[in-house]
Amino acid sequence: MNTEIKRLRDILNSSDNIVFFGGAGVSTESGIPDFRSADGLYNETYSYPPETILSRSFFSKNTEEFYRFYRDKMLYPNAMPNDAHNALAELEKRSILKAVITQNVDGLHTKAGSGNVLELHGSALRNLCMSCNKCYTLEKILETDAIPLCSCGGVIKPDVVLYEEGLDSTVMSKAISAIRNADVLIVGGTSLNVYPAAGLITHYRGDKLILINKSKTSYDSYANLIIREKIGIALKEAVGEPG
Ligand code: ZN
Repeated sequence: MNTEIKRLRDILNSSDNIVFFGGAGVSTESGIPDFRSADGLYNETYSYPPETILSRSFFSKNTEEFYRFYRDKMLYPNAMPNDAHNALAELEKRSILKAVITQNVDGLHTKAGSGNVLELHGSALRNLCMSCNKCYTLEKILETDAIPLCSCGGVIKPDVVLYEEGLDSTVMSKAISAIRNADVLIVGGTSLNVYPAAGLITHYRGDKLILINKSKTSYDSYANLIIREKIGIALKEAVGEPG
């Protein structure tokens, strides 16, 4: 165990108010790639960049093409939680972690056993009829190659935040409150370049801001501890075996 991970372990052992904020990097070890990092791959099969396809106006105008990309690149129904998800669930079980805030829509924190998960960008596991608001599971999206339709005939839209859409204000204010009141804030798997990540962590008032990221982030100078390691390895080593 390296010196930084030991320091993280000591910090975790001396706090009962830890909050975690994570990005796409938390799920890459579960085999879910960050779509932003691989633009080039899509150019061969898709005529638009992912940011365009995953926008609200594109969904409205080109629903079928949206779903082709979405099923192909955004959905990983067989993905399983990794060491990072499991370590965070363990910290909550020990009653020292208060909230997991995530930008991911894969539902893996919940699958790992975390209870208080604030999904800033929604969840691919929930899908709502745009006419009657009936909720469907992921299977409904996967059972057809066409546009998924509700029993009422309405178009079903994933409950994920698309470009051009605002974030859920309830989830956002819960996230701000958790961060503002946190003793320890661990930020991992995000370069902090994507809205609203950077803005959120400015609400932290403590002196134990821990960044776990393989590469530099724009907030490195604010961090009290920086760990340049895969997030699954860092958290698993610092948290230890499930009790
Ligand atoms: Zn409906």
